[in-house]
Amino acid sequence: MALNNPSAGIESEQISHDSSVASYCIVGAGPSGLATSRALSQLDIPHVVYEKHTDLGGIWDLDNPGTPLYESAHFISSKWTSGFTGFPMSEAMADYPHHSEIRRYLNDFADACDLRRHIRFSTDVARIEPEGAFWRVTFADGGTALHRGVICANGVTWLPSAPSWPGQFDGEIRHSATYRSPSEFSGKRVLIVGLGNSGADIACDAARHSEHAVISVRRGYHFLPKHVYGWPIDVHFRRPELIPTDVRALDLRLGVFAVTGDVTRLGLPAPDHELGQAHPLLNTQLLHHLAHGDIEVRPDIARLDGQSVEFQDGSRIQVDLILLATGYRVQAPYLDASLFDTNGQRVMQYLNVFNRQHHELFTVGFAEVAAGIYPLIEQMAHLVARHINDRLRQPSVARAFEAWKQSDDFDPKGGKRFIDSDRHTNYVDLASYLSHVERLCQRFGWPTLESMDVRPA
Ligand SMILES: Cc1cc2nc3c(=O)[nH]c(=O)nc-3n(C[C@H](O)[C@H](O)[C@H](O)COP(=O)(O)OP(=O)(O)OC[C@H]3O[C@@H](n4cnc5c(N)ncnc54)[C@H](O)[C@@H]3O)c2cc1C
Repeated sequence: MALNNPSAGIESEQISHDSSVASYCIVGAGPSGLATSRALSQLDIPHVVYEKHTDLGGIWDLDNPGTPLYESAHFISSKWTSGFTGFPMSEAMADYPHHSEIRRYLNDFADACDLRRHIRFSTDVARIEPEGAFWRVTFADGGTALHRGVICANGVTWLPSAPSWPGQFDGEIRHSATYRSPSEFSGKRVLIVGLGNSGADIACDAARHSEHAVISVRRGYHFLPKHVYGWPIDVHFRRPELIPTDVRALDLRLGVFAVTGDVTRLGLPAPDHELGQAHPLLNTQLLHHLAHGDIEVRPDIARLDGQSVEFQDGSRIQVDLILLATGYRVQAPYLDASLFDTNGQRVMQYLNVFNRQHHELFTVGFAEVAAGIYPLIEQMAHLVARHINDRLRQPSVARAFEAWKQSDDFDPKGGKRFIDSDRHTNYVDLASYLSHVERLCQRFGWPTLESMDVRPA
């Protein structure tokens, strides 16, 4: 069926960059933008992907300025559970692929699905605002375009979040987003602040390459091994043929305890939450370095004083470099912040995807999950594509969904409690989310992603 022409009534001189008013715009050609472009392409929905960098791949392209990745970075979820549907990661890749392998995989995915033709590279989106029934996109070079709808796929790790402390530090202090190579630690006394997966990885680099390495932590975490019984941990605990579901939780506890034991022996605080209530920390290398005295643990920083750092327990050390592995702010900086706010008590992005106020505003990839995120990203992309398809071709179904999203109170966290931190604001319980997507597909007559043949031709 031909699409309506939504540009009727729009003066052509209003459009200075292009005249793509009938199309949707996706911001970002990282994994989320690529998954969305594939989903829209499969339904012949016209769209353009704006990418500020000269190439695709998002954070997995180390040449993309501002990427939070570093030379030693590897995937934290295994290749077995992390690929896109119909395009698995290859046998030749490592269980936990190096960042360069993920970059190659994303390029291969884009080429196999013929997605490059949709991407405008070196196109930095500076501002997007509603204009009548459309969205006005303004680029950093001053050009503009009107689009029918907007899919924000700009990633959630580009805006560093940094704490501050009383006092003045005379050494070097910067966010871990600026860290690339262990050579930066050579001959330096280094303090890493924060213990997410990046903090733990970078602390291991510091343990091996610095003059003296220290990590400052505010709370205790559960450390998970990358392999159990010879398999990546995310494979082992998802394979019912290997272990029955009902003993998995106990097995996880025992398996983790058998490998890591009581981490307070190594100077780490005891976890203040249950396993599963915080993003998993898949790193036993750090425990290895602690056990070998290559790095030491201190509590939260109390104040800075010249070249000294004083901690909450009153201890002090001299430091040359403080690296803040303290996370990121989740935002689409080109949009009015109020669009992502809560409206009273209601979160504006239903399922972390659909804006409750604007029917043509979507987010893909604005989530955290205790697993590889691509299976979640592509479900989000699938939902967006199906709903846009209805808006264009079956308006009555689209209206029914729009009424539904105002009243459905599904909690993407699946009712689970996660620790109270910025990182867990957008946390999604994958199993609950996928079950809910299946229910939505049934209700609105959409095929499930699993039932479709999405293999590239
Ligand atoms: C250290 C680290 C390890 C990780 N490990 C894993 C893992 O093991 N498994 C996993 O599944 N996930 C992992 N992740 C999560 C990671 O975020 C995803 O793999 C994935 O990169 C998210 O894709 P995205 O497209 O949403 O965002 P990104 O990869 O951030 O891509 C967003 C794209 O949007 C572009 N962009 C941003 N703003 C604009 C703008 N204004 N105009 C135009 N373009 C713009 C950027 O240039 C970028 O290309 C990890 C993340 C980090 C930081």
